Amino acid sequence: MNRRELLKTGALAGAAAAAAHLPGLGALRAARASTSGYPFSSRLSEGRNLIFLVLDGTGYEDMAAASYFSRRVLGRPLLLERVLGAGQYGSMDVQSLTAVVTDSAAATSAWATGRRVVNGALSQLPDGRDLTPIMHVAREQGRATGLVTTTRMTHATPAGWVARVASRGREEEIAEQYLAFQPDILLGGGRGPFEVSTRSDGRDLLAEFREAGYQVVHEAGELEEATGDRLLGLFTESDLHLPYEADRRFQNVPSPSLAAMTRKALQHLGDRDGGFVLQVEAGRIDHANHRSDMGAVLWDWMAADEALDEILTFMETQNDTLLIVAADHDTGGGAVYGFGSGYRASTQAFETLAGVRASHEWLFREVIVPGLTPGEIQDAVREYLGVHVPDANAEIMARVVAGERGNREVQRGHPNAHASQPGNTLAKLMSISPDGSPDRPNVSFSTSHHTAGLVPVSILGPAVAPGALGFVENTELFHIMCAALGTRFENPGMTEAEALEALRMG
Ligand code: ZN
Ligand code: MG
Ligand code: ZN
Repeated sequence: MNRRELLKTGALAGAAAAAAHLPGLGALRAARASTSGYPFSSRLSEGRNLIFLVLDGTGYEDMAAASYFSRRVLGRPLLLERVLGAGQYGSMDVQSLTAVVTDSAAATSAWATGRRVVNGALSQLPDGRDLTPIMHVAREQGRATGLVTTTRMTHATPAGWVARVASRGREEEIAEQYLAFQPDILLGGGRGPFEVSTRSDGRDLLAEFREAGYQVVHEAGELEEATGDRLLGLFTESDLHLPYEADRRFQNVPSPSLAAMTRKALQHLGDRDGGFVLQVEAGRIDHANHRSDMGAVLWDWMAADEALDEILTFMETQNDTLLIVAADHDTGGGAVYGFGSGYRASTQAFETLAGVRASHEWLFREVIVPGLTPGEIQDAVREYLGVHVPDANAEIMARVVAGERGNREVQRGHPNAHASQPGNTLAKLMSISPDGSPDRPNVSFSTSHHTAGLVPVSILGPAVAPGALGFVENTELFHIMCAALGTRFENPGMTEAEALEALRMG
């Protein structure tokens, strides 16, 4: 029986339920509050492997949009929906130590260490104390470790699993800490912090990684053929992220897919005797949401779902693997809203997203450049996004692109107080039909920043009975992962008041 049948028939759920004496993670969490510790960890730790799939910068509204997109455009439900049904599923609170809205650094630190830190910090308290991320715990146990991401390798989300820095911006230092820790697999973008030509200290980290036994690759084909036990794949130059999935898929921007990187990581880590811990990040959903680009959001969601397919294929043969899927926070507050008679226009409008063939970022870098006429802009939007922009909007767009009009002036006619980037204005001009016609996607964004919204989290594995995980804090995932690794670990922590005092003194 293959995985899809398992998920469909609920046999996987049945298998977990058959071990009827095993409580789910809900009971595990309840047990944490008691002095008896982790009575179920021995069962959870029969799993040798831990995979954490993170979708950066996305929440429930996006999940709904991705679900409709997958069904209506690709003709199949999201695999993630099946995972939610087969495992434990809950909602997660993601605030940071001193703010109700988190950034990616504090969010990743929370689940990597079990402690909240201030926004911008990676696995380090505001008084300078380093925390111990889960990868270090796993290393002590002899497990292999890996980080896969569609952002640049030194970006916050993967970095917090290994590195300890006061500021996520210290990416050269993060690269050095990767070298010192030596995760077995590092796959992502951004050669800049590793290269002798771009590093401020002139160190050649790529050479140092080679000396440490890494095979270093820079292209998708090289990755496919790589055989090294230790792998450093950096698929873009300088500080660039990997391309959006829409651009990789439709505009042939060269890059391995997230699924291909995930498959490779699992091939290399899957046969390690001691097991492994792997983080896989769909890191650019966040970036698309910052730009109010729902088409790019949805295709990066599809890429994450394809990576999930690789993970589930792996788990079919190695059922001693625990999988956690979570978002780190929501971004943009994008929502498919109801309009038109019986809200039917919403569906028509949403389905225009099927015509998306590029991200806004690519479109405004490669095609819609200063000097284009409004008519040429209309043609480009029709070709690459599949929608018609009215004359008046195209005229405004031409002037925004040419830099003739300040963003503030443009905003006046299109008020969105928190959409601070010109890209948000352009997105709105291309996406919203104020007259209520369903000729554009009509997905509204409430901000170009992160939001405080709860995010979904799901846990799937052989010792996990299906059911409600309930409401969790992002820090709890650290303890659940420790239990899955058969250990306990408590990092030091600070209260919000102590943190504010430390920041004031510092
Ligand atoms: Zn994030
Ligand atoms: Mg990220
Ligand atoms: Zn963000």
